[in-house]
Amino acid sequence: GEYGPEQGGRVIAHFGRTLDVRPEQGGKAVRCHLRANLEGLVTGDRVIWRAAHDANDGVVVARGERDSVLERPDPRGQLKPVAANIDQILIVFAVEPAPHANLIDRYLVAAEATGIAPVLVLNKIDLLPQHGGELRDLLARYEALGYPVVTTTTERAEGLSALQARLAGRTSVFVGQSGVGKSSLIDRLLPDEELRIGALSKDSRKGTHTTTTARLYALPNPGSDAEASGGELIDSPGIREFGLGHLNEQEVAEGFVEFRDLLGHCRFRDCRHRHEPGCALLAAVERGDIHPERFASYRRILESLGET
Ligand code: GDP
Ligand code: ZN
Repeated sequence: GEYGPEQGGRVIAHFGRTLDVRPEQGGKAVRCHLRANLEGLVTGDRVIWRAAHDANDGVVVARGERDSVLERPDPRGQLKPVAANIDQILIVFAVEPAPHANLIDRYLVAAEATGIAPVLVLNKIDLLPQHGGELRDLLARYEALGYPVVTTTTERAEGLSALQARLAGRTSVFVGQSGVGKSSLIDRLLPDEELRIGALSKDSRKGTHTTTTARLYALPNPGSDAEASGGELIDSPGIREFGLGHLNEQEVAEGFVEFRDLLGHCRFRDCRHRHEPGCALLAAVERGDIHPERFASYRRILESLGET
């Protein structure tokens, strides 16, 4: 067939070797197939593609560099990319069920290992009055470490604006345990069914299969500035379940941001930070520079690595 000139685009969904590509210049997404030598494209990838002259489809001819990749183990335990070019991982937890610091730390370590910036989202703050102080102290601890914290509720409209501001202009994913309110938040952010299905042209939409892989959604701009982007969301059941994965001891230690400057300053090069003399981490815990609960999380995560 005849194809038009090369243009930029972004993968918003994929079904095997068939992809939906949103043109960089705007407009409806176009169903594309992959040129034979291309493999392993995922939702969020930036691509070069060409539109067919006589049909509502196209061909992807090249993949752009990736800023970041989110990987998940396949059924055989091999890590496979599931989404690319994500700017931030929103770790959702809720007033109820109450979060354990250890769980938050697990998510943070996993996020840090991807190189994608984590953001903590505390949902269901409508339930907060009963449980105020402890949770606020917990959040303050993470803010002191430099992590942005956003509090939300799906029960009141104003609970969403801080989240929308955080999402604007970036590509985000939501992760977190079941029951914390991820679906409810996403429902609020994407109320329009058309947006959910993906803005495919009518002809391209014919024969759309439901996808089990990740989809990219353009979030509506909540403000009045029509030029501003509401941000983008990449979502799939697999991404929501993103967890600790296959990390080694070094990655776990580096996943604790306040440990980073201390690693390499222990007396022994192979220090495992248990009870070694001259351990820089243990000294920092003594001084109060590392919170004892964070250090306990670190130990527990290491122990759980040994179990798998
Ligand atoms: P998911 O498993 O993380 O996707 O969580 P869901 O979105 O399915 O929410 C789990 C439950 O929490 C549902 O019963 C929701 O109605 C409820 N829920 C979600 N957000 C809020 C909130 O902000 N406040 C309260 N009180 N309940 C919420
Ligand atoms: Zn040490």
